[in-house]
Amino acid sequence: EAKAQGRNTLRFFDPRIQQAVAERTALEADMRRALVQQQFILHYQAQVEAGGRLVGAEALVRWEHPDRGRVYPNDFIGIAEATGLIVPLGAWILHTACMQLAAWAKNAETAHLILAVNVSARQFRHVHFVAELLEVLRETGADPARLKLELTESLLLDDAEAAIARMIELRTHGVRFSLDDFGTGYSSLSYLKRLPLDQLKIDQSFVRDLITNANDAAIARTIVALAHSLDLAVIAEGVETEEQRALLERFGCCLWQGFLFGQPAPADQMLQQISTLVAP
Ligand code: C2E
Ligand code: MG
Ligand code: MG
Ligand code: MG
Repeated sequence: EAKAQGRNTLRFFDPRIQQAVAERTALEADMRRALVQQQFILHYQAQVEAGGRLVGAEALVRWEHPDRGRVYPNDFIGIAEATGLIVPLGAWILHTACMQLAAWAKNAETAHLILAVNVSARQFRHVHFVAELLEVLRETGADPARLKLELTESLLLDDAEAAIARMIELRTHGVRFSLDDFGTGYSSLSYLKRLPLDQLKIDQSFVRDLITNANDAAIARTIVALAHSLDLAVIAEGVETEEQRALLERFGCCLWQGFLFGQPAPADQMLQQISTLVAP
């Protein structure tokens, strides 16, 4: 291996890069097949408020690859976006998520749950996105007001006006929006006030070292204050310890998601995890 040969070995054709390219091509071919053969699944991660009450969940896609085992989104969403496969994959994700919402609506214990679904920029920009989502909502009978789309700031890079128009249209049907990974993007604060958002999601990179890093704590506290002054809800992701949760609560962020409350899991397991949780 090149690394083992020392730092002075400069190799023009790094076999690791060649291997990575080959891997990507193989994954792309596999992914087309995977959609047809239904190898994707959704896991759900709890979103919890003070008192330990479950308010909703985030749907997170996984790929149950027949040879590679479980593949996580960071290893295939990028490829799906680059190839356009994110459009059919995203449609499957929204359909599956809405079926889950409709199932929760039938049970008094889960009827109040909000389901957050990640939507990538390319998927959201697709000309038929709004029409197809409305069709999925109709087909599944899911309540649009229980669906929350998690968008990232990258959505604004290309055509912010079109994105805002889409958000406004979906919002008239009751769909909500959360700005994911907030604080890591490029958008200016002036966009923030123009976006018809419901929630900011504090990126986990600010939560990770919250207790030991004063800068991260200052950023998290500022995001909470910003959300409040813009009249937006705020949730923190990547909450792993009680110390992190308590500090976020002190900052005024009272909605949390992270391993402290449960790993992403099939819907029934997610509900079980929460029912056995000690209330924060
Ligand atoms: P994200 O939307 O910011 O999701 C949060 C990620 O943090 C998830 O990784 C989740 O499993 C992980 N996480 C949750 N709690 C903790 C914690 O306490 N500590 C740490 N270290 N991590 C935690 P995952 O599932 O691997 O997803 C990674 C990213 O892939 C997501 O980031 C999202 O950008 C994307 N993604 C996931 N599912 C979908 C999907 O259905 N559609 C699209 N377009 N993108 C998706
Ligand atoms: Mg997300
Ligand atoms: Mg996030
Ligand atoms: Mg993230």
